[in-house]
Amino acid sequence: MSNLQYSNKDPLHTSVQYVKGVGPHLASMLANRGIYTVFDLINHFPARYIDRRRIDSIRDASPGPDRTIIAEVVTSGIGYLGKKRSRIFEVIAKDETGIISAKWFHFHPKFMTGRFKKGARVLFAGDMTEYNGIKQFVHPETEVLGDEDSPELGGKLLPIYPSTEGISQRMFRKIIRNAWDKYSPEIRDSFSEDFIKKNNLMGLKSAAEFLHIPPNETDVDLLNSFRSAAHRTIIFTEFFFLELALAMKRARLAAEDGISFKFDQAIHEKFLAALPFTLTDAQSKSISQIIADMSRPHPMLRLLQGDVGSGKTVVGLACALQAVANGYQTAFMAPTEILAEQHYNTISKLLENMRIPCALLTASIKGGLRESIYKGVKDGSIPILIGTHAVIQEDVSFAKLGLAIIDEQHRFGVLQRQALQKKGTNPDILVMTATPIPRTLAMTLYGDLEVSILDQLPAGRKPIVTKIYRDKDREKLYHGMSIELEKGHQAYLVYPLIEESEKVDLKNATEMAEQLKLVFSPKYRVELLHGRMKSDEKETIMRDFKEGRVNILAATSVVEVGVDVPNATVMVIEHAERFGLSQLHQLRGRVGRGNDQSFCILMCGAPPSEEGRLRLNIMVETGDGFRIAEEDLAIRGPGEFLGTRQSGLPEFKLADLMRDSGILQIARQTAFEIVTEDPRLELPKNRRFAEEIKQKGRLELSKVA
Ligand code: ADP
Ligand code: MG
Repeated sequence: MSNLQYSNKDPLHTSVQYVKGVGPHLASMLANRGIYTVFDLINHFPARYIDRRRIDSIRDASPGPDRTIIAEVVTSGIGYLGKKRSRIFEVIAKDETGIISAKWFHFHPKFMTGRFKKGARVLFAGDMTEYNGIKQFVHPETEVLGDEDSPELGGKLLPIYPSTEGISQRMFRKIIRNAWDKYSPEIRDSFSEDFIKKNNLMGLKSAAEFLHIPPNETDVDLLNSFRSAAHRTIIFTEFFFLELALAMKRARLAAEDGISFKFDQAIHEKFLAALPFTLTDAQSKSISQIIADMSRPHPMLRLLQGDVGSGKTVVGLACALQAVANGYQTAFMAPTEILAEQHYNTISKLLENMRIPCALLTASIKGGLRESIYKGVKDGSIPILIGTHAVIQEDVSFAKLGLAIIDEQHRFGVLQRQALQKKGTNPDILVMTATPIPRTLAMTLYGDLEVSILDQLPAGRKPIVTKIYRDKDREKLYHGMSIELEKGHQAYLVYPLIEESEKVDLKNATEMAEQLKLVFSPKYRVELLHGRMKSDEKETIMRDFKEGRVNILAATSVVEVGVDVPNATVMVIEHAERFGLSQLHQLRGRVGRGNDQSFCILMCGAPPSEEGRLRLNIMVETGDGFRIAEEDLAIRGPGEFLGTRQSGLPEFKLADLMRDSGILQIARQTAFEIVTEDPRLELPKNRRFAEEIKQKGRLELSKVA
């Protein structure tokens, strides 16, 4: 995302090629990093700064990071080091106070010999160590000083730019400087002086200048902690426009015409009576929130977040019934056939007593049955249609679609609200996710959605006993498993499968299943499930497990998110150290879904890395999905946390969701206040915001389009 304002004819839009010092080759290298225009270049901010303001004498320089000295070459040449006789290039240099050595392990001999001639005055900068009483640099930055040359690397606070591989930092600094000198007068502020003052910001131009060319007296720690006023300004701006776009999107939706459902007490009470359990407070609260939202005469776009096993399905169903009572249809979508079928089984059982028909539509439903479902949906005699998201994409037409419920949304990727709108007249949308999304992420990723949270598990659930086992504990593991199997319970055993070593892993998983068979067959049935199997084979095994005909399910990696087999009480995760936290939590969430004590055994093969150990310990410590998500986000960062590049997360130039969450909250609040007062940004004071939003197409930013 970019900050500084421009118009189409704006000089800032000039190709980087026209910047002094940038030829076609460099331009293409820059393009590889997404830098096409002067504007992009100026928005490429330093990742950190090094302090080269102090040049020490060799005697006074104490070993440590970022030391700078100037010395004269005494001798240089190739030498050999250590048992392996590694080739090194070494320079010995002196000043009035002592001598120093500089070493390179990777070098171009001819170039180095030519560069470090005897008598040359050289500036060395980098991390200084001491070896056998001699101070030394390994792979320092160097600059050979000419007589009148003022040192470029010395006496300054130097910006270090991110991802410039193949382009030297020096080159990068030079072209940014050239671009800055020529084009910075074109930079306009997006904010009025009032706004700047009120929000403790700087002008954009001064902020950008400060970051690229920091004044020499600046505190380097302030810069490196991203806490300078200039950092705050750029970061705030990035967040602000994102949040402004989200706020506008929400406001636009709120202004559209939608269905105003009337709450039907009778059907709700009938539903409560049909449930084999009482709702948790969290479920009741979420249902009220959603129904209140459905009653508004505008389209609903709401996210229901709930930890695994918190009971999202019935919340969705309660709302579906309201739509039905109002004479509308509901589409209930799940990401896989298994899950769709599972929802169908739960829902149809509950609806049977209430005499409300529902149907299942997946790819495996064919022929006459499929035709009759199409027909029933079209004429309205099927009020609730459950299926994969094909239910809204195929040639299914609804008589009167009023509500769409989308389960495990993150697995669908980008949701096309338009596709839904075409199916009905602005139906309400409820998105459900089992991956708790930390607040900072939710604010950016789902910032245009209203949110309900299920932060409570059904009563009677016992915390899952979680333990870390080593390979030597395998006997103990099998013993524990057999106790549970003896009671009639079932077990999962999950084996990691990673793409790089897929073949080996699959072999290992297969061997693991064979071993389980040796131990547990014929008394218990063991089946292996993996991604390479045909989908109907997979379905059969899953179904047999769900219905209790398979006792132990050995699976690679992904046992379907959301699979609900309350009778399963053991989850064994092999090589648990290889899984991410959220994944471990999801896997563990496959058990503990009934009233029986469940167990999760984290098998730890090789001694784990520091980070691996941390993850496993968190798993043992807590079962709270929100806490685990926060930890996971902190460990892996937002990109990895969400799993894919398609996560829909905007790319920030400088802002960092974790580090800058405080600024994010303020920016969000500011943006939402503006939109509350002026939903279409028509007031004169907001006009430049509208311009900026329009130009950058920021309205496309969010995930739910
Ligand atoms: P998730 O939120 O992970 O999708 P589900 O909707 O699959 O959870 O529900 C998990 C299990 O909990 C199901 O077997 C469901 O019937 C059961 N359940 C849901 N709500 C309650 C409740 N209030 N009391 C007891 N069991 C419940
Ligand atoms: Mg679910």
